[in-house]
Formats: sequence, C-alpha cells, structure tokens
Amino acid sequence: MNLSPHFTLQELTDSPSAAKAGIDNTPGPDALANLQRLCQLLESVRSLVGAPLIISSGYRCPALNQLIGGVESSAHVRGLAADFSVPGLSPRQVVQLIVDSDLVFDQVILEFDRWVHLAISDQRPRRQVLTLRKGTGYMAGVV
Ligand SMILES: [Zn+2]
Repeated sequence: MNLSPHFTLQELTDSPSAAKAGIDNTPGPDALANLQRLCQLLESVRSLVGAPLIISSGYRCPALNQLIGGVESSAHVRGLAADFSVPGLSPRQVVQLIVDSDLVFDQVILEFDRWVHLAISDQRPRRQVLTLRKGTGYMAGVV
C-alpha cells in the first residue's frame, strides 16, 4: 500500500525489533491518516534534497515503542514522525536544508549526527529545531 507516490506503508511500519518480538506494528485508522499526512511532508523533503529518503523508523505501536525504550515517542506512536537518512548527504546537511526551506513541520531533530527525526503535528506547527547528543541531551538549533 502506498501512503504517497514514493512512500509505502511497509517502509513506514517496518521494524526488525517488532518482527523479532512478534509485535504487530500495524497502525490503526488515526495513525494511518497521520502517516499519510506525514508522507506529504516527506515527499517535499525528498524533492528538497533531490534524493530518496531511507526511513529507519516511522510508526511505532505502543508495544514496540515500549520495547525499544522510545523517549521522544509520542509522535512516532501516533504516526506523526519519521527517522531517516539521505544517501550522499550528512544528517546535519539534511536538517540544515529543511531549516532553510519554507517547509511546514512541527519538529526536526538532528539525532546523534546519525539520522534526522522529522515530525508533523495536529496542533499549530512549531518549526522547532533541536540537536540531540549523548551527554548533552537536547539542545536548541543545529549545533
Ligand atoms: Zn524519531
């Protein structure tokens, strides 16, 4: 099932951890609708960076989120966030491109310089930019 032209439900729900633990990571109707909206933003990011996005984590059902000890969890649990990387660009470059664009998002986080966390909201989007590092935790901006 396609959520948008370039993103499938499979890649937004695939989880080796869930499969290993026998957890069914299928979203309900609300999370599915959120994922479809999230994928509209991911399509825009794909156009912005001019390359495919490699999704490492999208939807996480509550059991999966608990299993992996997800902290920045609520957005993933509701289908409002995805973690991804882009071949040929560093996560830092990708975050900077998103910040410099006029894309509407709720939160973008450069996580451990290894991937990008991008979230939408059903509230007024905050356009919040954070960097997460071991030791320091969350810091404002791209640092
Ligand atoms: Zn995330």
